[in-house]
Amino acid sequence: MKAVRLRPGKERSLQRRHPWVFAGSIDKGKADSGETVRVEDAAGRFLAWGAYSGESQIRVRVWSFDEAERIDRAFFQRRVERAVALRARLPIASSGMRLVHGEADGLPGLVADRYADTLSVQFGAAGVERWKDTLADALLQASGANRLYERSDAAVRGLEGLAPRTGWLRKAEADSGDTAVTIAEHGWQLTLDVAEGHKTGYYLDQRDNRALFARWVRQLGCREVLNAYCYTGGFTVAALAGGATRVTSVDSSAPALQRVQAHVALNGFDPAASECADADVNAFLRQSLEAGRRFDAIVLDPPKFAPTAAHAERAARAYKDINRLALMLLAPGGLLFTFSCSGGIGAELFHKIVAGAAIDAGVDGAIVQRLEAACDHPTTLLFPEGEYLKGLVIIRQAGERPGPAAGRTWPA
Ligand code: SAH
Repeated sequence: MKAVRLRPGKERSLQRRHPWVFAGSIDKGKADSGETVRVEDAAGRFLAWGAYSGESQIRVRVWSFDEAERIDRAFFQRRVERAVALRARLPIASSGMRLVHGEADGLPGLVADRYADTLSVQFGAAGVERWKDTLADALLQASGANRLYERSDAAVRGLEGLAPRTGWLRKAEADSGDTAVTIAEHGWQLTLDVAEGHKTGYYLDQRDNRALFARWVRQLGCREVLNAYCYTGGFTVAALAGGATRVTSVDSSAPALQRVQAHVALNGFDPAASECADADVNAFLRQSLEAGRRFDAIVLDPPKFAPTAAHAERAARAYKDINRLALMLLAPGGLLFTFSCSGGIGAELFHKIVAGAAIDAGVDGAIVQRLEAACDHPTTLLFPEGEYLKGLVIIRQAGERPGPAAGRTWPA
């Protein structure tokens, strides 16, 4: 077994069971891409077993902190079974769910999503790439699903020196290989394509927030709704289910938008109640303001503006801008569901950004709930980097006149 020895003092994060070893912490030792190595401290004492990745700044991702554990086929079967067994105990109101969520399930770099009988899987790091066949078999066996599509096309693979790869990894010969799948989420029918959809096909992390949105729309009696960054219209269906009479869905992806109207009809709602705009959200919000439009409820679920903390300041400006516009477009007493899925923007910072947006918009709002990713996307106590999705449910205070702020707020 090859060993990777750390520089003095660099063992501390591993002793706290953080699962990454950065290149700068390593004194000596290397291995092939994805090969299992013994990570040891400067004195040669065992710290962890992990997967080596010579091209990545995250040079080793830990499999186990237990010296007696063997990293073999049975190990991966156990980890996959543990992850799937956890999901079986969770309250998941859908046939679409995340079965494996990377580090949080002890399988760094692996994302495995279940869409009815189809698994859509991303092998995002050298270690899981090396164990791909074992993991594919284990996932099918533990889940009882019968086909597995590989979606290893995320940009992170490049950082690992791995080429993108997509296609069926496992399916029966008689299976036509149709990549279109329908799931039932909260009793709503939603279609997706595991080959062409974003991520592995759908944004499963927002599942509980979509149901919640339907409840809030009903509770507040919202009629006119804006779903900004709508993707295939999950929140649009939720709004209609909550009693909205008109929903405007905006996205810049034409293939995603095409599904919105289909989803409205598929779920028994009047297509005339749904309007779609293929547009940049920021421009759409500005135009709507100029046109004097008002909405009773708005969802703002933008893509990741800040992948890492280094992008935080520029991203903050972008978040602030759309939130300011959305708050101005909201009718007094209206409802805002606003999100950030940027790992580089923490919950506290996001709150501060939206607060700045409210000041600039000249409105006040009550935060009535805080949101995060659904429970099948857990974080572990030991890996704070895993936290990414955060959201605020805000009700705009009634009886205020919007206007620009007197002073400057951060970020300007
Ligand atoms: N709320 C959705 C997920 C949204 S993901 C759901 O529940 O399924 C973010 C979406 O923003 C993607 O669909 C992407 O196509 C879209 N997008 C990214 N940049 C955009 C822009 N500038 N204007 C409009 N849409 C954008």
